[in-house]
Amino acid sequence: MQRSSSHTTWFPIVLRMDGARVLVIGGGNVAANKIQLLVPTGAKIEVLSQNLTPELQRLAEDGTIHHVAIDVTPQDVAARLVGCRLVYVATNDATLNRDIASVCQAQNVPVCAVDDPGISSFITPALSIRGAVQVAVSTGGAAPVLARRLRARIEEVLPAGLHRLVEFMQDKRLPLREKLPASSDRRQVWERFLDGRGQHLALKGETQAAAEELDHLTQGHTPQGEVWLVGAGPGDPDLLTLAALRLMQDADTVLYDNLIGPDILNYVRRDAERVFVGKQRNRHTLPQEGINEELIRRAKAGERVLRLKGGDPFIFGRGGEEMEALVAAGVPFRIVPGISAANGCAAYAGIPLTHRDCAQACLFITGHARADGTLELAWDRIALRGQTVVIYMGLSMLPDLCAQLQAHGLPADWPAALVERGTSPEQRVFTGSLASLPDIARGNGVTSPALLIVGEVVRHRVVPVPRT
Ligand code: SAH
Repeated sequence: MQRSSSHTTWFPIVLRMDGARVLVIGGGNVAANKIQLLVPTGAKIEVLSQNLTPELQRLAEDGTIHHVAIDVTPQDVAARLVGCRLVYVATNDATLNRDIASVCQAQNVPVCAVDDPGISSFITPALSIRGAVQVAVSTGGAAPVLARRLRARIEEVLPAGLHRLVEFMQDKRLPLREKLPASSDRRQVWERFLDGRGQHLALKGETQAAAEELDHLTQGHTPQGEVWLVGAGPGDPDLLTLAALRLMQDADTVLYDNLIGPDILNYVRRDAERVFVGKQRNRHTLPQEGINEELIRRAKAGERVLRLKGGDPFIFGRGGEEMEALVAAGVPFRIVPGISAANGCAAYAGIPLTHRDCAQACLFITGHARADGTLELAWDRIALRGQTVVIYMGLSMLPDLCAQLQAHGLPADWPAALVERGTSPEQRVFTGSLASLPDIARGNGVTSPALLIVGEVVRHRVVPVPRT
């Protein structure tokens, strides 16, 4: 056994507090923080202090805490220690705190002097509470601010519906024990449940479906597969949603295309299978029907398939078609929205998409040519003042697009911008007019992906302070 020499090693426990008497000495903000933690535990809280913060005053008035208004001495505390489970000392007088802590230590009542672990017999960690799940972070009193920062990082990865998942598992614990007496069988079922779609159903509160999945696993079947249609945003991994990130960490397989760069793929679980289904040199590696079939085949084989798409799956992403194919095949699926290129590029280029002065609407259109090389668009509704037009997939048709917008009534000096590889470290932004932009794009060798933004909002562009 090795003993720690440079710091005290604390032993973590979780105490049952309902009905227990707890003394809090002090009535300021520090005491209020501890009281906030104590109230939900159902402890009987006695607060010894001449004054109370307004918040504590309110708790005293509604009977949540019992206030003893005295100018506290160690003797007052000593007289109240019998039957007391814990004491928090949080006055602003360090000597008084120390004397009170000694009295408690002498009578073997656990005491925490806030901000003074040296005289405390217990400490309170930084806590994240999601129903019955409690995650505690402690630095042994050495650096409470660091503990709170670490807790915040942990909170980011705790799913929002964790309390529902715990409740579900608690409800099913005894019934499952009756069905599967061997603990190793039960453990396997729960592991499969948590690794599979059961977890997500329970997190979302879809209790009936979660129970069906649990039954399915209890009968010895393998977990059911499903497909997640997830938007990965325009390129910067910081623009992934927490939901996307979680599913990326859970997937067995990921099907992705050109818009998904290595920066994003890095966040996918390391041992997930990666399948590229994008376009390569003007030919589809897998046509859309092939992608649909692949999604269905894999989900039916029990895989959790992540269909990762650039931007948002429902904005020029063919997410609608994939969803329809999944419905027709009876494969369960989930959709997670993403930040679309329009939002990401506009923000990172410093161009507002709407503006009170000049753009009351914003139109997203595709500039993708039809098979015969022409554009068929409702120009009368597109070439209008008072709105912003965002054109996806418009680079190869840029000269035609700019010409058509002018032919349908916008002036030659109407502002337009092109954002290449928006939100990535290689982002380039070119601004000009309908007349000048095609030459600017050619002259600078702009390549796909690039987004065209047309409208007076381009004049309101503010170049953001460079990111560090
Ligand atoms: N579903 C995607 C769009 C797919 S269509 C979304 O919501 O963003 C592909 C087109 O999107 C590209 O031709 C380009 O016009 C635009 N695009 C996507 N990512 C982009 C980026 N990082 N920078 C510029 N344009 C982008």
